[in-house]
Amino acid sequence: MYSLKCIECGKEWGDDHYTCECGGLLEVRMNLDEIEVDFKLDGNNITVWKYKSLLPVKMDPVSLGEGGTPLYRAERLEKETGIRRIYIKHEGLNPSGSFKDRGMTVGVTKAMELGKRAVACASTGNTSASMAMYAAKAGMRAYVLLPAGKVALGKVAQALMHGAKVIAIKGNFDDALRIVREVCEKEGLYLLNSVNPFRPEGQKTIAYEVADEIGVPDRVCLPVGNAGNISAIYKGFRELVEIGLTESMPKMTGIQAEGAAPIYRAFVEGKDDVTPVKNPETIATAIRIGNPVNARKALKAVYDTKGLVEIVSDDEIIAAQKFLAAREGIGVEPASAASVAGLRKLAERGDISPDETVVCVVTGNLLKDPETVVRVCGEPVSVEASMEAVLNSIYNLV
Ligand SMILES: *Cc1c(COP(=O)(O)O)cnc(C)c1O
Ligand SMILES: [Zn+2]
Repeated sequence: MYSLKCIECGKEWGDDHYTCECGGLLEVRMNLDEIEVDFKLDGNNITVWKYKSLLPVKMDPVSLGEGGTPLYRAERLEKETGIRRIYIKHEGLNPSGSFKDRGMTVGVTKAMELGKRAVACASTGNTSASMAMYAAKAGMRAYVLLPAGKVALGKVAQALMHGAKVIAIKGNFDDALRIVREVCEKEGLYLLNSVNPFRPEGQKTIAYEVADEIGVPDRVCLPVGNAGNISAIYKGFRELVEIGLTESMPKMTGIQAEGAAPIYRAFVEGKDDVTPVKNPETIATAIRIGNPVNARKALKAVYDTKGLVEIVSDDEIIAAQKFLAAREGIGVEPASAASVAGLRKLAERGDISPDETVVCVVTGNLLKDPETVVRVCGEPVSVEASMEAVLNSIYNLV
């Protein structure tokens, strides 16, 4: 049904591996010639597991109803940018509130197939929230390493309540990832970071769902941190073309935060790998990553589709977050808003054509990061418990 191959040297490995001896990442290659695709791109019954025939697992999935997220038409954003069609895919409406659930349903199912008892990850927050949730469903133990003080409160709350052992390290995400890889190797825990080759397989269903609902758009715009998602979505669209279900590829367009933009630098210099950023910093904690694991795959996806990589400032991110929430009714966390902030910037500069159909993937839910909201919106006004005081407040007399 599939094989697991090194993306650098092509060597084949068994399911229970993450990287090749040459250091390259492993990638699932579905044997598309042999697979009997048992779904139609007819817009019906869209969920991750509609596409099981293209997912590399055999057993019944560990599922919490992931995928099938809304694809909204963003008319005010169209007006503002002058771009003909803009859709927003709200991945914040997955079970744990981010797209990570698509990867985790596949990753935790694979952990079951491999007979693992415990799973682990390093996380900027959403991976841990999602992993803890799916581990709970599967009855497995979960261990999470977080960069201390740098994870949005809602995400820590989820990991804790779903029963994971949560360990905050005095370092950044890149440190946490390095350590958890060593711990997994030593203790035989199943590693569910995006070096895990099965997680992107779940995430590629974002591409399938978009194609299922509106066909292949001209461009897909999304925030990029570790760059697993942009690589996965590219792979999803590529497979649809190879099977013959679709004919074109969208221009893959990655948006990074100014203070954490190694892939942008590489793109501007036309390189196919990154120079890591030492101390990444941005309000968008989910993409606060200096040494993205999937950088090479992501750059290939961008070059191959004549896509773009752009950067946005924290102010632009917050402005886009507010616009989405207050003008489109779409509540997302800061990292997610980067996709829209980037689209606005590219449109304003005339880097993309007004005739395009663009899908912006917004990756996580507003509720994830209430502390940032209070910081940028302020606390609610507080008044006496009387109608007069309330009216005064409404008419802003005080
Ligand atoms: C994980 C995450 C990202 C970044 O995805 P990568 O695959 O690491 O590039 C962006 N936004 C949110 C909300 C996330 O949870
Ligand atoms: Zn190799």
